[in-house]
Parts: sequence; C-alpha cells; structure tokens
Amino acid sequence: MKAVVFNQHGGPEVLQYTDVPDPEIAANEVLVRVRACALNHLDLWVRRGLPGVRIPMPHIPGSDIAGEVARVGNLVSDVRVGERVLLSPGISCGHCQACSSGAENRCRKYTLFGYGVDGGCAEFVKSPIANIIPIPEDMKFEEAAAIPVVFLTAWHMLITRAQLQPGEDVLVLAAGSGVGSVAIQIAKLTGARVIATAGSDAKLVKARELGADDLINHSKQDIMEEAKRLTGKRGVDVVIEHVGEATWEKSVLSLAQNGRLVTCGATTGYNGKFDLRYLFSRNLSLLGSFMGSRAELYTVLKLVIEKKLHPVIDRVMPLAECAKAHELLENRAQFGKIVLKV
Ligand SMILES: [Zn+2]
Repeated sequence: MKAVVFNQHGGPEVLQYTDVPDPEIAANEVLVRVRACALNHLDLWVRRGLPGVRIPMPHIPGSDIAGEVARVGNLVSDVRVGERVLLSPGISCGHCQACSSGAENRCRKYTLFGYGVDGGCAEFVKSPIANIIPIPEDMKFEEAAAIPVVFLTAWHMLITRAQLQPGEDVLVLAAGSGVGSVAIQIAKLTGARVIATAGSDAKLVKARELGADDLINHSKQDIMEEAKRLTGKRGVDVVIEHVGEATWEKSVLSLAQNGRLVTCGATTGYNGKFDLRYLFSRNLSLLGSFMGSRAELYTVLKLVIEKKLHPVIDRVMPLAECAKAHELLENRAQFGKIVLKV
C-alpha cells in the first residue's frame, strides 16, 4: 500500500510517500481502508521527536482517521465490511481500573494511532474493534476525520475539566488552531460568552463566524489587558490554554476569582511561570487535560450529526503532499484542520 513513513525524527523532509506492506490484522482487529486523515499539532511533535518518548520506526503518522471497513478478524462480529467509520484515536488496555471506569485516557497503556502504533497516513490501518465508530452516510470522510482529536480535546477541557457554566466568560487562545476553533463552538453551545484571540484580523473574522463574541488580535493587543477590559476588570472564568510558555503568565493573570485555566498543550515551550500569590489569593484552579474518553467522543459526534457543532476544515490535500501539509501547520498558515485525502 501507499503510505507516508519516516525512519528518523526531523523536519518535514523526513516524511516519505512510499510503498509499504499492508498491515496484518489479528482475530480481534479490523482493517480500515483510510479515506481521510486529519493533521494535528501532535503529528509535528511525533515527527520531530519528544524527549523521553520512543516512537516506533519506521513510523506511519496520523491520529484522526475516517474510512471504510475493508476486512474484519475472525472474532469480530459487530462490524461489517464496507461500513463507513471514524476511528476513536486513543488506544488503551481495555481492562484496567481507568478503562473500566470509562476514563481510557488515564490508562497507563494509553496511546494513539500515529503515536505508539502506526496511524492513518496510509491506504490501510489496522484498528482494535473498540475504536471503530460508525458515521452517517451523509457525513463526508474529510469531515469525519476532522472530528476526533480536537473535538474530544476541547470537550474534555471545557466540559469535563473546567465544568464551564452558562453565562461564564471564556478566553479561547489561538482561535485558528484546531482546538481553538472547536472550543469556541462548544463554549457557545454551553451558553458561555467567548473571547477569542488570534494573530491576524482574517482569523478573527472567522472566529466571529464560529460564534466568538469578542476578539483580541494578540499581535497588536495585550491579551490580559483586553480580557480585563472586556470583563469590566473582573477577568474571565475559564482560559483555554494550549500555547504554553509564550502566553502562560498572561493567561493566569486574565482569570477572575475562582477562575480555571485548563491546558492541553504547550506549542511554544514547556516553562510556564506565574506568581503563586495569584493562585491562592484568587482561588484559581490550574487544570491539565489530555484527550478524553470514547463516551465523550460519542457525545460530540452526536452534536456534529445534529449540526450543533461543525468540523472546521481549512483545506483538503492529497496524502502525497503530507510534508507540505506539515509545513503549513508548522507556519500556522491554516484556520482549522488540514485534512489529507487518501
Ligand atoms: Zn487500561
């Protein structure tokens, strides 16, 4: 089959579009003919290499996968060949305490397609039966692939971790990112007021279209000062952080009394600093968030099917142009998801 493979960490140039053997499935696995695979910032980290993480080589990246069932193992009975599906991106052991309580993302063996195992930048991918989720006939594969990682991440951050309430003020950083563009929608659906930031006016126009109430151009305006101004000096109840070092201190300072900062990433660096006095004197909460459960993915998928939430796709490119797509994502040239068509 055709696939995008890398044999060593590095820049986009390590990604090779080439022929590799088809995956072989076990009796309890499903072979999926990939039709679309969406990129995430995670793909960039996996390609560059993460300290303390061993990525198996040669490696096929890609965590957000949609396609059709091509073959099923002998022990698989509930999935039929030809069925249109998306793959729940997280793979877990399925029987530890975390998995048994529906919190697979806290499983010690948790990994993702395109991370600990081969991903969807290929014509075929093998999947555990538990990861197969059917999609409606009228949902395009590109749309389906744009859902899993960012919708799950944003839902887990806002609803499960920050417990966002109607009427609260939310600051969503980097509205043009996959997580940002979805967080705006989920926060609005909850009945919150959304203040979105982006580095260009063109991205802010799109953030407004997604429902953002107020906008901050962080290349011209100070995020904290604007957040305070827009809330009558009170500050915001929730900050959706995934930028890291470049914004961390301002994000903490933007919080109101009892505010919650929830983070799922640190694309600009890991060393966030802040004055601890703010943490205790303002009753703040700093929350980490990593992916989410399969049950949460079913919830967000239902809301997408009901057209209450919408996948945000910047562009669709052929799989062969995966390296170029990585470059676009690296340069933050996109608004929403870049999807590779297979
Ligand atoms: Zn487990």
